[in-house]
Amino acid sequence: MQRVMALSLGELVLKGKNRHTFLQKLIGDIKKNLRGIDHGKIYHNMGKVYVEVVEDNEEKLINRLKHVFGIVYIAPSIKVETNPEEIEEAILHVVKETLEKHPEYKTFKAQTSRGDKTYPLTSMEINNKIGGIVLKNFDVKVDVHNPDFYVYCDLKKDTYIYTEKIKAYGGLPKGTNGRGLLLLSGGIDSPVAGFLMAKRGVSIDCLHFHSYPFTSERAEEKVKTLASDIASFSGKVNFYSVNILPIQKEINKKAPEDEMTIISRRFMMRIANKLAEERGYDSIITGENLGQVASQTIGGLQVTNAVTDKLVFRPLIGMDKVNIIDIATEIGTYETSILPFEDCCTVFLPKHPNLRPTIEGIEESEKDLDIDSLVEDAIAKMEVTVIE
Ligand code: ATP
Ligand code: MG
Repeated sequence: MQRVMALSLGELVLKGKNRHTFLQKLIGDIKKNLRGIDHGKIYHNMGKVYVEVVEDNEEKLINRLKHVFGIVYIAPSIKVETNPEEIEEAILHVVKETLEKHPEYKTFKAQTSRGDKTYPLTSMEINNKIGGIVLKNFDVKVDVHNPDFYVYCDLKKDTYIYTEKIKAYGGLPKGTNGRGLLLLSGGIDSPVAGFLMAKRGVSIDCLHFHSYPFTSERAEEKVKTLASDIASFSGKVNFYSVNILPIQKEINKKAPEDEMTIISRRFMMRIANKLAEERGYDSIITGENLGQVASQTIGGLQVTNAVTDKLVFRPLIGMDKVNIIDIATEIGTYETSILPFEDCCTVFLPKHPNLRPTIEGIEESEKDLDIDSLVEDAIAKMEVTVIE
């Protein structure tokens, strides 16, 4: 009997021609995420990937595997040779363990997937055999409609027996949808936006704006912690840190007070756009959410969007705050996000922001600013760190 983690791949299985590339990518990501944790062979067979367990570290393995996008379910399983004696032994072992963990379970159902079409019994017949074995050895009953647990039997060249399917995040392996530059603030939204796009296979690097010395070094540390949370899903992250204070001072001097925020936003977007061009990002990602604040009205978004020709992903655009908070809590960024540190945007916050900016109006307000040299200067002074 060999313990393995059986990994279901969901939509990865559907990827047709690209399937092989996706699978290789996924296996590479699994290897990377399991670095430093003992495990045996990693292999794939008929649409699933398997990781052999070699010591008593299943919980650690499961936690790491949950952070690999492309995996839909993790099933801690027993693998045996496909013959009746070994299969029976595996069933006894797995059901015994399950009932020790869940003494409240009273009913079960057998569910066989017969990948080996040459096996002499049909799925139904195998289910009946499994049912018989469990009924004879344990104090539980069959319930085909609403069982407390399933006894799964994946019958292939080898056979895998399990009762538990642990939900992972699904999605697509890292980098299968290009590189994205995430505008990461210290708030709740942008880490969630990064997570959602990383889940769709976008490889993420982060761009953060601060207003040092108005914002503190500890505020920046907080944002780096958020970046490292994203790195736990998407692998190594480049963290670009730009001081936007010189630009804010210029805007404050030369543009109308009620347009401070929206003009700063346009500078953030211009800097992101230039960085994306210089460093080969396919997309820019923000945590913008329609109507949440003044700069995220239809007019605000339009005016911000007008300074970039890159594809801008705003995965939170139509979500409610409660749903965003749910995801932030689930992925572990919420507690960090709500730490009360200053944010660069609050340094020169207008009392009555313009809620209906237009592109022409804002361009007029920006006419005294030397946009190109402000952008170039900010990027020239940018600091880059790598976050593992
Ligand atoms: P968040 O929770 O992400 O801070 P928010 O609701 O506070 O979002 P805004 O502050 O209006 O929204 O920012 C909208 C988006 O602009 C953010 O989600 C982020 O992508 C980007 N952004 C805002 N401030 C910064 C910053 N200091 N550095 C980098 N990006 C920023
Ligand atoms: Mg913010």
